Amino acid sequence: MKKNALSITRADDFAGWYQQVIAEADMAEESGVRGSMIMRPWGYGIWERVQYLMDQRIKASGHENCYFPLFIPLSYFSKEAEHVDGFAKEMAVVTHHRLIKGEDGGLVVDPEAKLEEPLVVRPTSETVIGTAFARWVQSWRDLPVMINQWANVVRWEMRTRMFLRTTEFLWQEGHTAHATKAEAMEETLSALEMYRAFSEEVLAMPVIAGEKPENERFPGADATYSIEAMMQDGKALQAGTSHFLGQTFSKAQNIRYQDKDGEFQFAYTTSWGTSTRMIGGVIMTHGDDDGMRVPPLIAPYQVVIVPMLRDKPEDEEVLDYCKALAKDIAKLRAFDEPVRVKVDVTGAKTQTKRWSWIKKGAPVILEIGPRDMADNKVAMIRRDALYQDSGKLDTKFLAKAEFIPEIPALLSDIQTNLHSEARERMDGNVKKGVEYWSDVERFYAPKKKHPGWLEVQWCKATGEELKSIEERLKKLKLTFRNVPVDAAAADGTCIFTGKPAVERIIIGKAY
Ligand code: AMP
Repeated sequence: MKKNALSITRADDFAGWYQQVIAEADMAEESGVRGSMIMRPWGYGIWERVQYLMDQRIKASGHENCYFPLFIPLSYFSKEAEHVDGFAKEMAVVTHHRLIKGEDGGLVVDPEAKLEEPLVVRPTSETVIGTAFARWVQSWRDLPVMINQWANVVRWEMRTRMFLRTTEFLWQEGHTAHATKAEAMEETLSALEMYRAFSEEVLAMPVIAGEKPENERFPGADATYSIEAMMQDGKALQAGTSHFLGQTFSKAQNIRYQDKDGEFQFAYTTSWGTSTRMIGGVIMTHGDDDGMRVPPLIAPYQVVIVPMLRDKPEDEEVLDYCKALAKDIAKLRAFDEPVRVKVDVTGAKTQTKRWSWIKKGAPVILEIGPRDMADNKVAMIRRDALYQDSGKLDTKFLAKAEFIPEIPALLSDIQTNLHSEARERMDGNVKKGVEYWSDVERFYAPKKKHPGWLEVQWCKATGEELKSIEERLKKLKLTFRNVPVDAAAADGTCIFTGKPAVERIIIGKAY
């Protein structure tokens, strides 16, 4: 029987499997502070790729990067009541700036060194960026302002899980100010579309882009949009959000401009963000029972060469041969960039090295021993198609000269393959046409595994009515995901209230 590299399978215990992948693929580890993780080189390397490729798209759509401080005066938050309410429960606050020796010789906070005004460690930067916008924007000529920052933020989350929900996480936050409502709405949707395309094309992670219902909006937003990805256990992961903030923040922070007639107007603002959570999404979208499968576009190394060393004199020759091979491969270009290749020169046994790269999910692994060297061959393992039908590892022995020029096409094939596999799974697990609440209950019956999502018609309830619907969903551990931007128009009755339906909305279990 085939034995996989991990002891926990996805089918047996998806959550346990996820934790094991993160450990075995050397992605991240606990740090000693609950919910704060150390990202190891392979995990951080993937984040750097995400950052680099997303940054290009952010800049190409007219935004510029800047940097705002980590500390935000508490008073900045009190200007917008709804916003502060939303974040108050999870704010880390700095109140002192000095330690002294306590009675028992240990360090304690110096009560004399209390800050006049507490400082919030940013959970998001609308307040501080808005304050700057108020200074930067005076006339219609100053608009639009379109900026982005790459930063860490802190939200004191109670239930944390590596990458998916950490107390400190890395992200980008886009912030823009516009003269008109229409322009700000266009920007909100264009950021959403950027996220959708990035997720599909770069992460190979299919998503549904759509608008969140009122109860799931970002604190202070007039409208919130999200991309929702389906994990292999059928749960949804909100992988990015784009907010239309209307004039809420511009009024709270006085972002005003003089229009062409000399009249003062409040600007319209937007904000949008994606985080290291996306990496958790990549793991749970593409991973298998042997570990990660990293899409070539975001793999720190796309090709890993494992020299088969045996503590023998010819090792030196094998190593030189591998290094020369790497040099040749690095001259190739895939996806408009040089191919990223690494020779694993560590002293571990070939077996160990092979499985460590399989668990990390390097797209292509090449093994070279003295025999391959003599025959001018490479032994190639393709991470997205690891086994033969028999369950044996599918190692292909290829003539080096013919194989090398094929690498860019191979990488592109792996990228496409991972995407289509995930796309097929998601498409097959969004059920449409369910009309009765009893069918929803049956679909999400407690012991059923991997049920996926439902697209239902509803009346777009608000206020108290929405609250009671939310309660009903909660009993089945369900939440509203979003109203897909490309959903068909409603033509039936609301599955919750029996009123005429207004739109179609996705429901499901979520991370
Ligand atoms: P928000 O500012 O709340 O709209 O968050 C923007 C994005 O950051 C979300 O869509 C998530 O993908 C991500 N995010 C939010 N909270 C966390 C967290 N605790 N850990 C990691 N990512 C997060």
